[in-house]
Amino acid sequence: MTRILIVEDEESYREPLVYQLTREGYDVSAAATGEEGLELFTKGGIDLVLLDLMLPGLDGTALCRRIREQSRVPIIMLTAKSAEIDKVVGLEIGADDYITKPYSFRELLARIRAVLRRNQMVAESGEAADDIPLVCGDISMRIGQHEVTVRGENVFFPLKEFELLEYLMQNKGRVMTRHQLIDRIWGSDYVGDTKTLDVHVKRVRAKIEEDPGHPKYLTTVRGLGYKIDTPSE
Ligand code: CA
Repeated sequence: MTRILIVEDEESYREPLVYQLTREGYDVSAAATGEEGLELFTKGGIDLVLLDLMLPGLDGTALCRRIREQSRVPIIMLTAKSAEIDKVVGLEIGADDYITKPYSFRELLARIRAVLRRNQMVAESGEAADDIPLVCGDISMRIGQHEVTVRGENVFFPLKEFELLEYLMQNKGRVMTRHQLIDRIWGSDYVGDTKTLDVHVKRVRAKIEEDPGHPKYLTTVRGLGYKIDTPSE
């Protein structure tokens, strides 16, 4: 079932949308604020986002950027103004399409289907290279789909954590030095705190390890760096 997240503060737009999209067979979640929308999105499993541009607090453009930092999920912006500037802004921040209020539900539905279809085609064309999962014990990841499965459960990974896990998985059984990891994930010109790497390792462990305090997959190799490997029983 395709899951759609609606982020819209105006109830007179939000409620009918929830009703109509549910009737079309979509699994619909709705948020009235950007913060709530981000929280729902971060839980994972969303296939498309309908995002109002003008929101109190974290607004539509900011939320769109935040989502883009971690996902390529299709985003359709709902804008109140038809000014050209909105169209440009909507697409510059990484949205896939926009629709101007007031819109007809029929038109919105057509846009939703078109964006989902396009996304599906991109996913399929990338399948040959990206569809072979990287596997390490009970952990498996599909790069093209940005999907991680841990002991049979889908677990959401924000981009940097995903890249860290991907790089370690590609080099399963090999020790990756701190320098290699920072260089690969944050770039060679990274000047931030080296603790950033440890923070990300900790977050990845919390998601993949049964006992993050005693990691069996992602282990520290003292004085060198980190490695991921299938636990030896
Ligand atoms: Ca609004």
